[in-house]
Amino acid sequence: MDFAFSETEKTFREELSTFLDQEVAEWWRHLFHAEERTIPTSRELAAKLAERGWLTMSWPPEYGGSGADAWMQVVLREEMWSRGEPRGPQYMNVNYIGPLIMHYGTEEQRERFLTPISQGRVIWCQGFSEPDAGSDLAALSTRARRTADGRYVITGQKIWTSYADAPAQWCFLLARTNVDVRPHQGLSLFLVDMAAPGVTVRPIESLIGTGEINEVFFDEVEVPADCRLGAEDDGWEMLRTGLALERIGVPWYADADRFLERLVAYTRETMVDGRPLSEDPRTRTRLAELYVRCRAARLVTYRAVSLQEKGSATALESASAWMLGGLTQQLAGQVGHETVGALSVLHADDPDAPMDGWAQFQQLLAIPTTIAAGAIDIQRNIIAQQGLGLPRSN
Ligand SMILES: Cc1cc2nc3c(=O)[nH]c(=O)nc-3n(C[C@H](O)[C@H](O)[C@H](O)COP(=O)(O)OP(=O)(O)OC[C@H]3O[C@@H](n4cnc5c(N)ncnc54)[C@H](O)[C@@H]3O)c2cc1C
Repeated sequence: MDFAFSETEKTFREELSTFLDQEVAEWWRHLFHAEERTIPTSRELAAKLAERGWLTMSWPPEYGGSGADAWMQVVLREEMWSRGEPRGPQYMNVNYIGPLIMHYGTEEQRERFLTPISQGRVIWCQGFSEPDAGSDLAALSTRARRTADGRYVITGQKIWTSYADAPAQWCFLLARTNVDVRPHQGLSLFLVDMAAPGVTVRPIESLIGTGEINEVFFDEVEVPADCRLGAEDDGWEMLRTGLALERIGVPWYADADRFLERLVAYTRETMVDGRPLSEDPRTRTRLAELYVRCRAARLVTYRAVSLQEKGSATALESASAWMLGGLTQQLAGQVGHETVGALSVLHADDPDAPMDGWAQFQQLLAIPTTIAAGAIDIQRNIIAQQGLGLPRSN
């Protein structure tokens, strides 16, 4: 198995990298760094990427793409995440919301929803998690009732909804349409207009700042029949496909790799007891461990992409890639703390913060990366079951 990139892919990486060096604002830290400028800035960049045909490059031309293969998309994702994902919320549209609409939507839905995504003009949020249904998503209780004329009326609460306050124009919502079957069999996916009467967004203050993560309340929200995606009660299968795409689509290793580069530079320029920190055996060992972990996560992801390209990726592959990516981010946070020492807790605003507060930021970032898109324990369960044939966990 040879994962070397082709000349075309290498040329594209160089071109994209030059573009991003010019276009990504110097202050930009990370998508998971909530501040006022984050969303408007990411919108501007997404529009510029769309102009160049890069935003949805792997989509077919009729939906605003150029039919680029999965490896060009890998190059794009790596370059984005190695800069803290400057596409902002668009990465969700491109990675799985758009592809699910393309695959399961009607022709009318494709025409209506895919073009605005390919032009970087729309923000979607994902309404899956609820206060009592996160890992056990099939337990969700948001209810969608079908009316006599075929519309749906939705009532319930979602939580941890990223970018709902951006504001998102649409919500990719999972709701219960049938209470008389096993929990995961009675769920459907809806494309919900966030401006519809009865939708309320309440931002949550979190580790990443104020906003970006929200509670969303649906109070008798009317949704037209043509905004249901796929068949009624078929939401679970589509969701599983979407989660696999989401997990393979975020190369955390690229994000950790850029942090490793910063750490290496820091050890070269920092003197401890008259010697560069880069000569300290313990520091070198830990940096080497992080280097290897980044590469391992990269290869496991490439394997998942390769199987996905052939249409044979399983939940095992995407869970493995997601889990190793999360563990790599955790290790990056730890190694950052060990390398920088006690000052690694200082925030970027503190003039004494080494590395402009990157060590502190990396430690915070390591926390959501093992929770979002499915907690790491759930990935462990999938791997235990599908990889090792162990019994289902309760
Ligand atoms: C930054 C961020 C952004 C997010 N964005 C969104 C979003 O846009 N839309 C959305 O719908 N959700 C979003 N989420 C929510 C995320 O999907 C959930 O937090 C996640 O699925 C875990 O669910 P929970 O928070 O309810 O925790 P729980 O499911 O209650 O889990 C709590 C703990 O118990 C462990 N646990 C649970 N079940 C098991 C089990 N069977 N075996 C072993 N351990 C178990 C978990 O690993 C975890 O450590 C986001 C979360 C974060 C952190």
